[in-house]
Amino acid sequence: MEKKLYDITVVGAGPVGLFGVFYAGMRQMSINVIDSLDILGGQLNALYPEKYIYDMPGFPKVMAKDLVKSLAEQATIGKPDMHLNRKIMKIEKVSHGFDLYCESGEIFQTKTVMLALGMGAFKPRKLEVAGLEEREGKNVHYVIKALDHYKDKDILVVGGGDSAADWTLAMSFPDENKKTRAKSTTLIHRTEKFSAHEASLNQIHRDTATNVYTHTEIQSLKDISDGERTRLEVTLVQNLTKETRTILVDDIIICAGYVAKLDFVKESGLEMQGNSIKVNDRMETNIPGIFAVGDVCTHGGKLKLIATGVGEAAIAANFAKTHIDPSAKAFPGHSTSKF
Ligand SMILES: Cc1cc2nc3c(=O)[nH]c(=O)nc-3n(C[C@H](O)[C@H](O)[C@H](O)COP(=O)(O)OP(=O)(O)OC[C@H]3O[C@@H](n4cnc5c(N)ncnc54)[C@H](O)[C@@H]3O)c2cc1C
Repeated sequence: MEKKLYDITVVGAGPVGLFGVFYAGMRQMSINVIDSLDILGGQLNALYPEKYIYDMPGFPKVMAKDLVKSLAEQATIGKPDMHLNRKIMKIEKVSHGFDLYCESGEIFQTKTVMLALGMGAFKPRKLEVAGLEEREGKNVHYVIKALDHYKDKDILVVGGGDSAADWTLAMSFPDENKKTRAKSTTLIHRTEKFSAHEASLNQIHRDTATNVYTHTEIQSLKDISDGERTRLEVTLVQNLTKETRTILVDDIIICAGYVAKLDFVKESGLEMQGNSIKVNDRMETNIPGIFAVGDVCTHGGKLKLIATGVGEAAIAANFAKTHIDPSAKAFPGHSTSKF
């Protein structure tokens, strides 16, 4: 069977890529969407699905997963083909445009490419403590999917960055129904100095009953079962004095950062500035037909925000249209008169 040649392939189905898909649909392009994750929404669904975002136009506040749901619905207008769980490893310039090579062995053909890769294909950085790996997804978590899971439980949060502080606060505070989520929260960090926002740390100390231990790491874990549920007896060690203490928790949340890979971009001949792809004011890279948008790109006025990223995606989709058809106008017309 002959392979489908798409007008545009959007690599990265984060918020910015999804809005690019919508705009490409508005321009009646045939669209392929590829993401290495098995879910849509990029960082929003993978890292903070239950956090509120406050800087979206028209939404005083919107939960990250709800914003993704709306973006995904909006993106269906152009009936895109979705290929999730596919990591792009190589882009090759060919006579019809580009061939995109996936880790799975598949090759996709496209006339233009919109790279909306965010920080790259990312995975949580794992802690190397015996016993953590086998409990992953049970009572050891690197990604928070639903806050409800932690209600009335004893929670240990590990980390010193914004995610650790934010999840500690999210677990400690009463939710909208005025019920406290977690029964207790403990926050440990391996050094004295937290990189989390000072205001969040002050709030943890001032407004929550969180036990905060610095210079502290997990030494060992043991399952404690009462027949109904299995809890974790965690031995913590103060890494300066070597003193230990034991706490009993239901779940451990580990916020040790992420490892992101952009290797293929660096090897594809795209002009880079640090870890970002350089683009002009049409979001074009140095390779005609390849556009870059969102967190992965950089230009004179770059801000790594969703609100500005989606504007970049609209620009890229419209200029991808003119790249394929030079007689087409870049201005798409107003959506109010299109639908
Ligand atoms: C905790 C937290 C809170 C935040 N709060 C806000 C906020 O309030 N307001 C705001 O504007 N921004 C906020 N941000 C930043 C915001 O999430 C990012 O700016 C936004 O996600 C960027 O969108 P994107 O689509 O460019 O990239 P991403 O969301 O990173 O999506 C990129 C997608 O590309 C995929 N990908 C990467 N490489 C490959 C590959 N080789 N093959 C296939 N797929 C690939 C990834 O799997 C991913 O799904 C926050 C970020 C964090 C971590």
